[in-house]
Amino acid sequence: MTGFTERLGAVLAQRRRDGLYRQRQTLQSAQGPVVRIEGREYLNFCSNDYLGLAAHPRVIERFREAAAEYGVGSGASHLVCGHSAPHHELEEALAEFTGRERALLYSSGYMANTGILTSVLQRGDYVFEDRLNHASLLDGGLHSGARFQRFPHNDMSALQVKLEAAGGPRLVVVDGVFSMDGDTAPLAELADLCSAQDAWLMVDDAHGFGVLGARGVGSTEAARLAPSSVPILMATLGKALGTAGAFVAGSELLIEGLIQQSRNYIYTTALPPAVAAASLEALTLVRNESWRREYLANLIHRFRIGAEQLGLSLLPSASAIQPLLVGDAVRAVGLSERLRENGFLIGAIRPPTVPAGTSRLRITLSAAHSEIQVDQLLDQLAACWTAD
Ligand SMILES: *Cc1c(COP(=O)(O)O)cnc(C)c1O
Repeated sequence: MTGFTERLGAVLAQRRRDGLYRQRQTLQSAQGPVVRIEGREYLNFCSNDYLGLAAHPRVIERFREAAAEYGVGSGASHLVCGHSAPHHELEEALAEFTGRERALLYSSGYMANTGILTSVLQRGDYVFEDRLNHASLLDGGLHSGARFQRFPHNDMSALQVKLEAAGGPRLVVVDGVFSMDGDTAPLAELADLCSAQDAWLMVDDAHGFGVLGARGVGSTEAARLAPSSVPILMATLGKALGTAGAFVAGSELLIEGLIQQSRNYIYTTALPPAVAAASLEALTLVRNESWRREYLANLIHRFRIGAEQLGLSLLPSASAIQPLLVGDAVRAVGLSERLRENGFLIGAIRPPTVPAGTSRLRITLSAAHSEIQVDQLLDQLAACWTAD
């Protein structure tokens, strides 16, 4: 008798009772506005493929070519012999695009965030995080050994009080766009506060990169921040860029420090080179074809106007993440199931991902959607909401 069996069983049973049980669905198609599951097609409003690049023909073609040239696996970690030309070119392009001295690739955003925080921070430092930050940032802060404090969502005066009370190296960490709410951090105020307090600011722009700002650089560009105000900029490649992996951009010193010390960078196999090559192709599309960002902004506007006319309780978000607040977890799951029966895929987001009592449908829009599909979504939401 180990007790593990009973404990695991009890956890699962409790999750079922609370409406918190999670299930995977198996896609039989590429990511896109329409996906196939168990032979049936669904309109997809829950992916983070905001620009529709995950299955873009040019990105796929570049992936194919690079796989033919560089093989499938990278074969080793970056510091051994896994760092190849496509990785290097992508890092240089990302540094240039974000206006930083250097950029460094990680295999995923989760690994980047935990890897950055656990190597930049030391025991005795302070790290301040917005309480709605992504789990990877919270985990990294908690495991860093630094004194870890959360501040209420976007509450600058609470943060200021905390900063003033702390001495020594202090790092403030926020999502640029909050992943479950879709709202943005007050980056200009944060930058001013950090500069006045001589603290560093780290921004995780997983949901802003490629989507926000005149050139698609993200939240920091939209807030017109100089690179020096955000010493640590992190973003993922698996969302708007449609590929996989993540990067951190910053000074030469920061990047060299991470290469030497970040365990999540050092002790793991490098991304497949073809993923890096495909990511560079996607970045080129972001740079050269601004119409996707502009069209997506129009779809977001169209959706919000329509939802308002229908009296739907959308959270205040201007991003591609448009959560519809439900409250109760069981009700959120019920709505998501009804939508699914009617051919619409929208995830119910429940605790512990979001605070108790704030379960929601997390609707995401993409430049790959048509206006007609967005209108169909609105009709469907109205029907399911009133039937509920
Ligand atoms: C998705 C996400 C991550 C994790 O990135 P992965 O590459 O999926 O591991 C980190 N931060 C935020 C804000 C995210 O939304």
